[in-house]
Amino acid sequence: MVANSPTPVLRPGVIYRARDLFVCSDFRCAGPTVAQTGRTIGGVPFQPVRGRDVIEFASVSPGRGLTCECGALAATFSWIRGLRVETVYAHQ
Ligand SMILES: [Zn+2]
Repeated sequence: MVANSPTPVLRPGVIYRARDLFVCSDFRCAGPTVAQTGRTIGGVPFQPVRGRDVIEFASVSPGRGLTCECGALAATFSWIRGLRVETVYAHQ
């Protein structure tokens, strides 16, 4: 249940990374534990993605954009415009 959940620690509109896992703030994407703690079940803290995460992702997954697990947010990076996180679709 969402109604009685503690305040999520992940901010909307941000893609977070822990190791090879990319999530957004939505509990359906991150899972309720991550949404409330900001960490994986193993205790690894999620950090907001940076430009170098996007570059690294593109190098290991050619042709795929960096999105969170649910696909609601997509990150792009260019040296001119920097890191941009765009909303692909909004959760209801
Ligand atoms: Zn997501």
